[in-house]
Amino acid sequence: MVNPNADFAAVAARRLRKLGARYRRTQEFDALLGGPTLNEECGVFGVIGTPDAAALTALGLHALQHRGQEAAGIASYDGEQFHSERHLGLVSDNFSDQATLDRVKGVAAIGHTRYSTQGATILRNVQPLYADLDRGGIALAHNGNLTNSKKLRAELVQRGAIFHTTSDSEVFLQLTARSHQLSMLDKLIDALKQVEGAYALVVLTKDALIGVRDPVGIRPLILGSLNGKPVLASETCALDLIGARFVRDIRPGEIVICKANGEVESRQVFPSSDPARPCIFELIYFARPNSIVDGNSVYELRKKLGKRLAQEAPCEVDMVAPIPDSGVPAAIGYAQASGLPFEQALIRSHFIGRTFIEPEQRIREAGVARKHAPNRGAIEGKRIVLIDDSIVRGTTSRKITQMLRNAGAREVHMRIACPPILYPDFYGIDTPSKEELIASKMTVEEIRAEIGVDSLAFLSLDGLYEAFGKGPRDETAPAFTDHCFTGDYPTRLTDQNEAQRSAMIQQLSFLAESS
Ligand code: AMP
Repeated sequence: MVNPNADFAAVAARRLRKLGARYRRTQEFDALLGGPTLNEECGVFGVIGTPDAAALTALGLHALQHRGQEAAGIASYDGEQFHSERHLGLVSDNFSDQATLDRVKGVAAIGHTRYSTQGATILRNVQPLYADLDRGGIALAHNGNLTNSKKLRAELVQRGAIFHTTSDSEVFLQLTARSHQLSMLDKLIDALKQVEGAYALVVLTKDALIGVRDPVGIRPLILGSLNGKPVLASETCALDLIGARFVRDIRPGEIVICKANGEVESRQVFPSSDPARPCIFELIYFARPNSIVDGNSVYELRKKLGKRLAQEAPCEVDMVAPIPDSGVPAAIGYAQASGLPFEQALIRSHFIGRTFIEPEQRIREAGVARKHAPNRGAIEGKRIVLIDDSIVRGTTSRKITQMLRNAGAREVHMRIACPPILYPDFYGIDTPSKEELIASKMTVEEIRAEIGVDSLAFLSLDGLYEAFGKGPRDETAPAFTDHCFTGDYPTRLTDQNEAQRSAMIQQLSFLAESS
């Protein structure tokens, strides 16, 4: 059968190669031909009412670079037209020259840093996404993952919608476009009422900069102020870089409409009798340590995890060493609480991207080796307790343990500043399928043997909650979205359930045929 996308795929592939993108042919084609949808961890930013909106957005995105390193984009509105610049690669590689920033003109801009976890980074998926609707243009940047986007997408396609991306975020635009409501705002709200899952959105229309957070408040979104003009961002570190003041968190289910004159109107799209249940992984791993979340320094919270870990799982060793960078604050906390010296057993190269996202295990392993170098002088003959924030597949821990032993470590112990990750994530943090999660297949003792350490311990769930000042975990109303550890998903998982149902039906029909 002739694939109607084949020509487009070839053109897109050629363009990507020209752009010098990290290019993997099979996955590229997979996505272009409607393959696996992309899960995304991302950073979003928006500002209105200031002449240097694009430059401020570029700075904001730079501060949010840790949330996504594969692509970045800025969209702006100059009072007459929308403009957009979207690129594969880092913010600093693409938004540092004046000419680029000059092209995204106007006093209002939004931006996005993107981290596609399936390797299929293609230019047309790079956000902000843009559409021309009957009420004018709309640009949108999304952090999070929808859990019913496949179902909605299939329904929309059946009704004649033409999708331009393989990203779940486009569903917002398609639903907004088809809404029978009159104003752009009501159309967007109509769309929000149909989606399930996690989203922090910044949206730009010709009238306003809009921010929305999902009804559970899974992904973060904050409101700031720069000389009286509203700013929206995923984390406070983005406000710090541009000299803006933190105003407040956007509430779960809230939509804020920010105007160029500085006015901010708020509406509650979904009743919010409950407090937010933010993703606990933001605090454990994802947010930048210098960000403030819910009034607390992320760095200090992570140190508390390390302190608690030292109480729960002490270790008789010569030194405490982090797996850099993610394990550093917890290792400092562990060292302070245990009275052991903090040492750098590993030196991290800052010239290599994140290893976690590599789609193939072989590449991932080589990535770990290039990213961390053993510091022989500090290691030789020593008993070491290594601290990391989390174990996902076990790749990092196994490689590093081997590295330390090769460099002469006498004993290598490991302590992890969160409980075992047992369940996959569907909200944009991208911890992989259950089969890939080492802790969902093995006991702690089996993991210890697999990664080759002398002893291994994880922080307890109540310890985690208590270190964050919210514990012990309240079974009926947990303070966080913590399904990675508990399997307690706070939203419906429509696509997931649908996929399981079809797999079961297929299996049943196979059994019926073969009997
Ligand atoms: P793994 O090597 O698969 O066990 O992954 C564990 C390492 O990846 C840890 O050092 C974490 O800091 C990091 N990590 C954990 N969760 C994520 C995530 N969602 N995205 C990227 N890196 C992660």
